[in-house]
Amino acid sequence: MLCRRTLRGPAVKPTGDSEMSAAQRNLDAYWMPFTANRDFKKKPRVISGASGHYYTTEDGTRLYDTFSGLWTSGIGHCHPKIVEAVQKQVATLDYCMTFQVTNDKAVALADRVIGMAPEEITQCFFTNSGSESVDTALKIALGYHRARGEGNRTRLIGRERGYHGVNFGGMSVGGMVPNRKVFSAALLPGVDHIRHTHDLEHNAFTRGQPEWGAHLADDLERLCALHDGSNIAAVIVEPVAGSTGVLVPPVGYLERLREICDKHGILLIFDEVIAAFGRLARPFGAQRFGVMPDIITTAKGLTNGVVPMGAVLVRDSVYDAFMQGPENMIELFHGYTYSGHPVAAAAGLAAMDVYDEEGTFDQSAALEQPFEDLLHSFAEHKHVIDVRNFGLMGAIEMAPREGAPGARGGEAHKKCFWDENLVVRNGMDTLQFSPFLNSDPDEMQRSFEGIRRVLDSIE
Ligand code: PLP
Repeated sequence: MLCRRTLRGPAVKPTGDSEMSAAQRNLDAYWMPFTANRDFKKKPRVISGASGHYYTTEDGTRLYDTFSGLWTSGIGHCHPKIVEAVQKQVATLDYCMTFQVTNDKAVALADRVIGMAPEEITQCFFTNSGSESVDTALKIALGYHRARGEGNRTRLIGRERGYHGVNFGGMSVGGMVPNRKVFSAALLPGVDHIRHTHDLEHNAFTRGQPEWGAHLADDLERLCALHDGSNIAAVIVEPVAGSTGVLVPPVGYLERLREICDKHGILLIFDEVIAAFGRLARPFGAQRFGVMPDIITTAKGLTNGVVPMGAVLVRDSVYDAFMQGPENMIELFHGYTYSGHPVAAAAGLAAMDVYDEEGTFDQSAALEQPFEDLLHSFAEHKHVIDVRNFGLMGAIEMAPREGAPGARGGEAHKKCFWDENLVVRNGMDTLQFSPFLNSDPDEMQRSFEGIRRVLDSIE
């Protein structure tokens, strides 16, 4: 039973809950994001500590994290180098606005990140999250065309089953139905979507990129014909769609999107909030696929998830278009109070140091094959209808129960937590995996053994 608060008084503690932890007793006040709140509060799963590849609960139980945070914490939790950098920074410069002045750490991190990016990408604009990065990128795209005298280019194109965060821009170009449904009337006007690339009939159980499906990029030509390409500002896609269940681009698909964008003068935005910083064994997915977008959005791995921060990386030609008019005038009326926050930037710099010093992206590359083999060992499982993977992103899709979509995935998630001490992420009936970039292969294997026991035990 959970504690009830009165409006005026302190928490009233009902009898019989003395064994509950403080966090559990106070849960009533907490409206959790993307969570079935009522179900969760019946039996909360509360983490209170972390180190390396494990979380701990208040009773001291250690849980292996199969999702490295929320695609965030590739080099493990509480990495000592990042902890130290954050502690030092918060005692040195805790905050400094970045409008018309700035701080040394933001300057250094922008330079560092651009140094890792494809050559043509020369500018780094800081945000505080993936959602803010996406909305910033969309605004930059609109501003770019207007600055070049093509203010008619206002249409934005996303992709079905894309996830670009939860702010109004990202939600509008996103293609996840439950995220859009309630807000349908308030979505941005002038947005359209190309079809997604997920097709079990052709691509089920593919290891890596499917051979079938490059032609699906031609759907962009359909929208160019419908709206006229000259009215379209930008196309945004995740190079590998993550939150919608790891949808891997078919061979040649991203290249084709690039060609069509070039043909019609449309900017191509890669949403690399998940893909960047080693999840695809390179600093950026653009480098892994050899396809150059005009804008890259990032967050998560930028600070290893330690302090919220995002960044939008922009091609020189896009930035140059803004750099006109009187030099004393602001060129882009956009930014956040916490853009380039010094503590976040210090965490980012420390994360970049670790990536370099520990060879994180090479570690990530070396784990791809064992990870793929472990995932695909579920191909014959009775519940499984697809397994897919690319880099260190993977998914096991289970058939939904008759009349109860999501129930099987939800039960698997809970059983993993309570019975196997594993934190596993499910999106409906698809289990998603985002192993640490520096995973221990034996630990990874043991985690999949636990998952198998769970899948064997559920209906
Ligand atoms: N874009 C992509 C591709 C994402 O995967 C996410 C989050 O998972 C976002 C944007 C939103 O990021 P945030 O939750 O930090 O706002």
